[in-house]
Amino acid sequence: MNYCSACGAPVTKKIPAGDNLPRFVCDTCQAIHYHNPKIVVGCIPEWDGHILLCRRAIEPKSGLWTFPAGFMEIGESTEQAAVRETLEESQAQVERICLFAVLSLPHIGQAYLVFRGPMGSPDFGAGEESLEVQLFSLSAIPWDEIAFPVVKDALCRYVDDVTRSEFQVHVATLPDRLT
Ligand SMILES: [Zn+2]
Repeated sequence: MNYCSACGAPVTKKIPAGDNLPRFVCDTCQAIHYHNPKIVVGCIPEWDGHILLCRRAIEPKSGLWTFPAGFMEIGESTEQAAVRETLEESQAQVERICLFAVLSLPHIGQAYLVFRGPMGSPDFGAGEESLEVQLFSLSAIPWDEIAFPVVKDALCRYVDDVTRSEFQVHVATLPDRLT
């Protein structure tokens, strides 16, 4: 950050009084600009023993597969974000979703909240940000073409849970090299 978003004057990185981390502080209006992690919300849509994945139409990682996921918007809850992202990217409606994983990526300042839940019907299609959308059996997940390590991590945990017939809420932090 070079300029204050409140007044347009230059900012300086310094530790404000009473704080313990450097922040961008406006030289003129003294506004402190905090830079905090972003929440990404995802959902694993389920249908008849399969899961729905989307092939990304946008960068980064265009052409690779992911479950629907995206940044939370102001004014919505995490579960609303999960349903919205699923609808936008895969044109599928998920119901009765529940939290599946909380995955922290501290090195890039993100936390993923991954939900899972059954689709209301087998209807789906490619949204604006997807090239194609497809149901996969768990033995056919395209592991070598998954867009992001965090998505792969969540899918591994998912397959493990299904295999053991025991779902839990996973809380984990991905190491630097995997982000
Ligand atoms: Zn300012």
